[in-house]
Amino acid sequence: MDQVFRFEPKDRYNAFITTRNDVPFGEGSLSGIPLAVKDNISTAGIPTTCGSAILEGYIPPYDAHVISCILREGCALVGKTNMDEFGMGTTTENSAFGPTLNPADISRVPGGSSGGSAAAVAAGMVPIALGTDTGGSIRCPSAFCGIVGMKPTYGRVSRYGLVAYANSLELIGPMARSVQDVSLLLKVISAYDPRDATMTDRPYLHTPAAKVAGCRIGVPEEFFGSGVDPKVASVVWDAIERLEGMGAEIVTCRMPSMAYALAAYYVICMSEASSNLARFDGVRYGPPADTRKTWHESYSDRRGTGFGAEVRRRIMLGTFALSSGYYGKYYAKAQAARQMVRDDFQRLFSEVDLLAGPTMPTVAFRLGEKTDPLSMYLSDILTVPANLAGIPAISIPCGEVEGMPVGLQIMGPRFHDENVIDAAFAYELEGRS
Ligand code: GLN
Repeated sequence: MDQVFRFEPKDRYNAFITTRNDVPFGEGSLSGIPLAVKDNISTAGIPTTCGSAILEGYIPPYDAHVISCILREGCALVGKTNMDEFGMGTTTENSAFGPTLNPADISRVPGGSSGGSAAAVAAGMVPIALGTDTGGSIRCPSAFCGIVGMKPTYGRVSRYGLVAYANSLELIGPMARSVQDVSLLLKVISAYDPRDATMTDRPYLHTPAAKVAGCRIGVPEEFFGSGVDPKVASVVWDAIERLEGMGAEIVTCRMPSMAYALAAYYVICMSEASSNLARFDGVRYGPPADTRKTWHESYSDRRGTGFGAEVRRRIMLGTFALSSGYYGKYYAKAQAARQMVRDDFQRLFSEVDLLAGPTMPTVAFRLGEKTDPLSMYLSDILTVPANLAGIPAISIPCGEVEGMPVGLQIMGPRFHDENVIDAAFAYELEGRS
């Protein structure tokens, strides 16, 4: 991170970028409930920064679909939360507003990129929050902060008004301290919206029922690969055994495409980002560029100073991956690998109802601990497969390692968000040690 605003933290964890006083709220199923919203979701009249200097002063003229949904149910939108710039990161350290601290241990990161939302929920500042998940950004901070967070099936929540990072992978989703609250919030935000062409009219209308007996749960060996901290692995295996004790049938299986999933994810997300972020040109958004200079000079000035190092790195790599002559070597190969991940999930879900494993390979890192991008990217290995395949995945707290929370991840077939929620709910009620 090479640019920091003069920015006074709004709270002790630096979870919020913008807070509101005298927050209005209406009547409805969430009447008066305080809700925090990740700062890449457009809110009419409330600044939306995406954690970036390039959007300084930007106030969206319209609400994202999910915001209309929660306001219609009477929520009090109390503020916008800190995040890795444009969602690019795993720690919330890549924010122009400084890092968010983990409420479980302030010397550690909260995870990312929805770290502000996770910290706000974990610290009890709000009971529910919205995050976004392109490659794990809801589930990672939920695991690191010890809360529940879910990435719904792709197509189940409208992306209208979400500032795009990698459209084909990402979704808005709920974060809370209980599975029931996650379910309640998902119900509200999954209302159909024709403005997102990838949306399917299959709203989530479910009321959770603790149900795991008779359920076949697959555990791919690759989910416990060499990068997974043995202490985390042992806590998660205990949790899986508790599911077995509750009547689930545990089946070990294989997922060979895990070997390609991370590389495919990073080529695809960077390629999409390089295209999506072209719009930040100093003309339409953010502080204006110097128009006395030539267009390409002012464009590169504005983007050179407005974007942080990680965002610039990804735009350059994504542009390279899409360039003529390299497209077949990188982007086309990544799409082929993405198909292998989808095929693997399809095969596995013909044999089992759900899949389970750790959400993250380790507990939360210390602030500043991970400095090289590659080692940071590696920690996303267990969360990106669900995004590549568009399947629902939840992270729920399942224990601790040295005082830090560990997350259990449960995934299901597309549009089986209900079954994922039911298994998580059963675990939450009966399985916790
Ligand atoms: N850590 C992943 C990335 O940096 C995931 C981010 C996200 O889901 N927005 O791309």
